[in-house]
Amino acid sequence: MSIRTITRILPAQATQDGAGVHLLRALGHAQGTRLDPFLMLDAFSSDDPQDYIAGFPAHPHRGFETVTYIVDGHMRHRDHLGNEGDLKAGGVQWMTAGRGIIHEEMPQQENGLLRGFQIWLNLPAATKMQPAHYRDIPAESIPVAELSGGGFVKLIAGTLSVQDHELVGPEQGGATQPIIADISLAAGQSLDLPVPEGHQAMVYAFEGSLATKQGAVGSGHSVLLGDGSALSMTAGEQGVRVLLLAGKPLNEPIAQYGPFVMNTQAEIEQALADYRDGVLAA
Ligand code: MN
Repeated sequence: MSIRTITRILPAQATQDGAGVHLLRALGHAQGTRLDPFLMLDAFSSDDPQDYIAGFPAHPHRGFETVTYIVDGHMRHRDHLGNEGDLKAGGVQWMTAGRGIIHEEMPQQENGLLRGFQIWLNLPAATKMQPAHYRDIPAESIPVAELSGGGFVKLIAGTLSVQDHELVGPEQGGATQPIIADISLAAGQSLDLPVPEGHQAMVYAFEGSLATKQGAVGSGHSVLLGDGSALSMTAGEQGVRVLLLAGKPLNEPIAQYGPFVMNTQAEIEQALADYRDGVLAA
């Protein structure tokens, strides 16, 4: 077993998206911090409705998948196909935009805590133009391993051996074999997890802190990991909660313009023309 070492520690950047939702961008194009196959990671957490109430009114996507995980709160999704989904605490929406989708993502609460993540997962060139598809995954469909010594691992995607549990997530993803997990550790607790060699991997701390050789890494930071067959983490004095992202890199060229992620500039121009002509999602 070769343990992955830390290659970078990155603070997330405060930004706004949608109609003025305040969030922290942990990975993204503008920051130059994509982690192939992950294009973006946004974390939102606020109990001030002014930070989230405007939501994400109708907007398009093409060429990748969005995975939305609601930790606390309530959001509603609607798309141009007439699909509607209720995203409640602990639930996930896995949306494959494929050739195109136009949708809105709006908070369904006027106060209280709204906390969660949106992950943008790239699609290989061969499947970018597949028909749009989405799936709502309620909290009860997400397997949880209770750890000896406290804490838990909730597995959103992929498969994972956790102590004596063999977790199989509700979504297996495609070519990139993503592993996405919400992991909570008690103060000082350590956990080793196997992650396939060749996968890129990171953890994003969103409560407490991690204890690392480089010192404590607090909430709002990503820890990017080098290659190896396993990762090892230890919680700091207040415990820690992290989102684990791992996936097989595509190593394909990326052309991105806002909500369109393709392989060439010509394909981006086609997406813009299709959107303008009302056939993006046709
Ligand atoms: Mn969207």
